[in-house]
Amino acid sequence: MKTPELLSDPVYHDEEAARLYLQEVRWPEGVFCPKCGTLDGIKPLGGNSMGPGWFYCAACQDKFTVRVGAIFERSHIPLHKWLLAFRLMASSKKGCSAHQLHRTLGITYKSAWFLAMRIREAMAPADPPILGGEGKVVEAGRGLPRAGTVSSSLRADPESC
Ligand SMILES: [Zn+2]
Repeated sequence: MKTPELLSDPVYHDEEAARLYLQEVRWPEGVFCPKCGTLDGIKPLGGNSMGPGWFYCAACQDKFTVRVGAIFERSHIPLHKWLLAFRLMASSKKGCSAHQLHRTLGITYKSAWFLAMRIREAMAPADPPILGGEGKVVEAGRGLPRAGTVSSSLRADPESC
């Protein structure tokens, strides 16, 4: 499924559109249980008490939504705000700060920080290279005296070894 490019797309503003989009992305072959993985015996749940987007797994005898087992689990931030945050963080080389998400999404700074942390964790490489072996420290040169301006206290002592 193609990622909506325009920021005016309903998935970035409408909760129902965002939920349906995420369901299609997550379950293109049909809804499966995030706990046991079965495709059989999954039934959508309706009713006013449940709200939209709930499914029931007969094998687990438990209910779930598209949030369960995903980055959105146990978050109260609306899905369309999650999608907009993904879009904003992925569209810039330097990402997007929690302060910027806080202002743009209209959520608390604490929520924005939590959201940014989860997204950064999800975007991190699954198997990062292990740092080890001999390292080399490279000075950027900022704040270092230029050649010819070295103060007398930094000059090598000709008498020292
Ligand atoms: Zn199950």
